[in-house]
Amino acid sequence: MIYFQSLTKTELVELLKPLSRIKARPEQTEEELDLKATKKARYRAQQIFHWVYQRFVTDWDQMSDLSKDLRGWLKENVEVFRLSERQSRQALDGTHKFLWDLSDSKTIESVIIPAALQEKEEDFATEDPESPTYRGRPVQETVTSPKWTRLTACISSQVGCAMACKFCLTGIQGLDRHLQVHEIVTQVHELRRIAPITNIVFMGMGEPLHNFENVVKACEILLDQDGLNFSKRKITISTSGLVPAIEELGKRVDVSLAISLNGTTDEQRSAIMPVNKKWNIEALLGACRRYPLGSHRRITFEYVMLKDLNDSIEDAARLTKLIRGIPSKINLIPFNEHSGSDFKRPSDETVRQFQKYLMDRKITATVRISRGQDILAACGQLRSIFGTARGTERHRDWGGVNQPSTLNTVS
Ligand code: SF4
Repeated sequence: MIYFQSLTKTELVELLKPLSRIKARPEQTEEELDLKATKKARYRAQQIFHWVYQRFVTDWDQMSDLSKDLRGWLKENVEVFRLSERQSRQALDGTHKFLWDLSDSKTIESVIIPAALQEKEEDFATEDPESPTYRGRPVQETVTSPKWTRLTACISSQVGCAMACKFCLTGIQGLDRHLQVHEIVTQVHELRRIAPITNIVFMGMGEPLHNFENVVKACEILLDQDGLNFSKRKITISTSGLVPAIEELGKRVDVSLAISLNGTTDEQRSAIMPVNKKWNIEALLGACRRYPLGSHRRITFEYVMLKDLNDSIEDAARLTKLIRGIPSKINLIPFNEHSGSDFKRPSDETVRQFQKYLMDRKITATVRISRGQDILAACGQLRSIFGTARGTERHRDWGGVNQPSTLNTVS
């Protein structure tokens, strides 16, 4: 059996071609017959993509405009993959986190992060630092609320991660395995059933470029106009800095790129991101300079701010120099403190000063309000309360499925 979500439309066309051949008339050449079969197979593949990805039909028998023969062949050879939801949980800010069971009993997480137009990330400065819930306004609205103008799916690319970034809970757990193409695509497909997802970020569990071929193929499927039909600007791959893979990515698929930078000297960055020992800041930024950006597009540099480690004005000054000449914007992410880490969050004033330094120098710098903190769905915190994919289940924190949470720490 082939999983439908592992197929690009071109691959599906190839599979359908032998079924799409017409009876040859004596005057027809092999070339003509092949051309006709390709045309018919392409039409059928489009129909099937529409049924599955746009109408969310998973039963071949319900695809009424497909021939009986074709439906029979599909039933025997192709399966529409489903992720089964083990748990889901909604945070006070509307962020919704899902724990999926995979067929080998591993688990992965995806998150829907809603945002409304009027919610600017710069609003950070006006928030109450004493808020017991999170750094924003509890909204108590679901992801299906019409209030949201953007619904971002944050998806996983691996079970665990090998990169071992020191500030990241997934990194602490190590790599279990790569996700297959259908497991990546289906996260978006499942989330789209729940809410009209507008953006995709590969910022969940895993280093997407470490699972390069599967991630690239999944992007091709997500970009397909007959399928989930995301635009290249709406898909962002975030990497810790695998330089050769960044170079290759630019040649293979047109999506947005985000770099998890988090340091302004090699010494500093290597201390928190071991990947920097292999590809240092200079090599990484060299790859960014060569990355083929389309017009009006920018690379996003994510910068997790860690108290007394990378949050000084000297860091801001070095950062300004480092990214000079690269069309870019900076996302400052004040660290989310959790009991699995000794790192601390800088004060609001420090973050504000850092941001101001950059903005005074005409650098676009936003402060990302970490979403879903009460359910630990924020950056670098995925999988923390669901337990690890290696079978250490820590579900005792759960008060029940879909209950708004008041948890703030990992037990
Ligand atoms: S921050 Fe990203 S790359 Fe680093 S360990 Fe965590 S999941 Fe892996």
